[in-house]
Amino acid sequence: MAFLDRLRAIVGAPQVLAGADAAPWLADWRGRYEGRALALVRPGSTAEVAALVRACAAEHVPIVPQGGNTGLNGGATPDQTGRAVVLSLLRMNAIRDIDTGNDTLVAEAGCVLQAVQQAARGAGRLFPLSLGSEGSCTIGGNLATNAGGTQVLRYGNMRELCLGLEVVTATGEVWQGLRGLRKDNTGYALRDLFIGSEGSLGVITAASLKLFPLPAARVTAFVALASIDDAVSLLNRARSGLGAALTGFELVSGACMAALARVFPGQRLPFDGPSAALPWFALLELSDSESEAHARQRFEAVLGGALEAGLASDAVIADSLARSQQLWELRERIPLAEKALGKSIKHDIALPVSRIGAFVRDTGDALSAGFPGVRLVVFGHLGDGNLHYNVAAGEGWSEAALLDREADINALVYERVHAAGGSISAEHGIGRLKRDLLPAYQDPVALALMRQLKAALDPAGIMNPGVLLQAQACAPAAPSA
Ligand code: FAD
Ligand code: ZN
Repeated sequence: MAFLDRLRAIVGAPQVLAGADAAPWLADWRGRYEGRALALVRPGSTAEVAALVRACAAEHVPIVPQGGNTGLNGGATPDQTGRAVVLSLLRMNAIRDIDTGNDTLVAEAGCVLQAVQQAARGAGRLFPLSLGSEGSCTIGGNLATNAGGTQVLRYGNMRELCLGLEVVTATGEVWQGLRGLRKDNTGYALRDLFIGSEGSLGVITAASLKLFPLPAARVTAFVALASIDDAVSLLNRARSGLGAALTGFELVSGACMAALARVFPGQRLPFDGPSAALPWFALLELSDSESEAHARQRFEAVLGGALEAGLASDAVIADSLARSQQLWELRERIPLAEKALGKSIKHDIALPVSRIGAFVRDTGDALSAGFPGVRLVVFGHLGDGNLHYNVAAGEGWSEAALLDREADINALVYERVHAAGGSISAEHGIGRLKRDLLPAYQDPVALALMRQLKAALDPAGIMNPGVLLQAQACAPAAPSA
């Protein structure tokens, strides 16, 4: 039987898309990668995923797992050879279980993050992972990239929110690891190997996730700041003044505010006058177990102190839920505004918080000296030491000219990140985008162990080859479709 007919026999003919039908799934969200594939296949159950993986393994056909296709590093896009099968998990979108007694929820990999948040809320609980892409990214993608977002400061990233996994291995077996346990010391942490593996070790089909109490109130404040050092000082002050109640601390540069004003002219901005012209802003979120009034009082005390000490220049505390949401929307729209203004060179970096001030000043100066006229778009999750440090075309630069210098700009930024003890990927993963950079910045022993794990868990090298690690040349030619 021809290969695609075998796949059709497993999932049903309408779930195997080829040619133009598959095209929408063969490019990434940023428009930086475009690939080709034998087909896009949409299984409806774990058993179907396992049968598909076995069929692909038997013929050495590469598999590219895909969720919402919102990833920012090209990890869900097949390469140009047209040999791979894209395995979309979107049909596997059931919430299998909610156990409020154990504070756990079991979701299939294709569940959209927002649907999981809503299901948790419906049960009177919080599932805290929050990303700008939450309306389309999936739990499987969130796990495979170990997604972060805006609530990591208090609740951790996806790794910390997951208790157990169901995985189809690269040889087509099902690992049933959907335990909802907070303690389980029974050997190697297999769960943590698959989290953050970007589809390179196996296919995640379901996960047991942690739930939390819903806060009684959430209040947001927006603060204008004269310098990056003030932003870091405010973070430290807010952390010690608010403790675990501080659930978000986001940094927004003046350049981001300008981009928002251009792309979303109807949007209400938090400041006007001189405060609106300041170079940095911070969005703080406080979650309170008592009431909104109590939350506001706590905010007023901490922000009042910061204003008096001169490290905040201006502040607004949202006076309603709608206003809080509007302030969050500003922050979440930054990637959309950035995309609308053209392609940029993105750096999703992590640094020790204590090094951020010096890094931002020195790297900004070095970029202006080496690449005069480039525009810096810096924002991110300051509370986690995670900056989205993006370089865009400015005065005198075309988009093409900027992208031509990508390697030089990356080298300048990542050398400084590395020297400051930071990471070249905080939350977006490695994918195709940073695969060839990883060897320069990852510890060589760690990299060798990663390669050994890949070879052990994916002996035929069929799981997302060329993503995260260089593809090992081992697969024979793919069968005819
Ligand atoms: P996809 O893009 O489909 O896939 C991502 C990777 O995971 C690929 O390597 C793919 O092969 C693999 N994969 C997907 N599903 C599976 C599975 N079931 N089993 C095995 N491997 C799988 N990310 C953040 O961390 N924080 C943010 O704040 C954030 N904000 C964003 C804002 C916007 C506007 C956008 C567009 C993206 C943002 N992202 C952010 C990036 C992205 O949304 C996340 O990486 C998300 O986790 C990807 O989920 P997805 O379902 O779209 O995965
Ligand atoms: Zn982010």
